[in-house]
Amino acid sequence: MRPRSNPVHELALCESVLELIEEQARVQRYTRVNTVWLEVGSLAAVEIEALRFGFDVVTRGSLAEGAALEIREIPGRARCLCCGESHAIAARGEACPRCGSYRSQLIDGAQIRVQELEVS
Ligand SMILES: [Zn+2]
Repeated sequence: MRPRSNPVHELALCESVLELIEEQARVQRYTRVNTVWLEVGSLAAVEIEALRFGFDVVTRGSLAEGAALEIREIPGRARCLCCGESHAIAARGEACPRCGSYRSQLIDGAQIRVQELEVS
C-alpha cells in the first residue's frame, strides 16, 4: 500500500530540484535547460502526475521553463540484515523472500535525484 501524498510535497520537491539546477547553472555557466532526467524511487511516495504539474509550475519564468521532464522510476530494493540477501520490494517493511526476516535495510527506491540535464 502506498501512502497518499499531498501536492505540497511534490511542489517542495520540484522547488529543490529547480534550486539544484540553478546552482549548477551558476557553476557550469549554462543559461537554458532543455531536458531534466529525474530518478524517482518507487518508495519515495511521490505522485508522478503531481510531480510533472509541480515542475511546470515552479520552473515558470526560470531557466528551465518549458523543459521536458524525463522520469525514470527506480524499483525498491532492500538488503536483509539476517541473511544478507538483497531483494526487490514493493513496499517498506516486506519480509525477506529467502529467510522471512523483517529486519532489512532499504538500499534503493527511496531517492529523488537529478540524474542528468540537457542544457544549452
Ligand atoms: Zn533474509
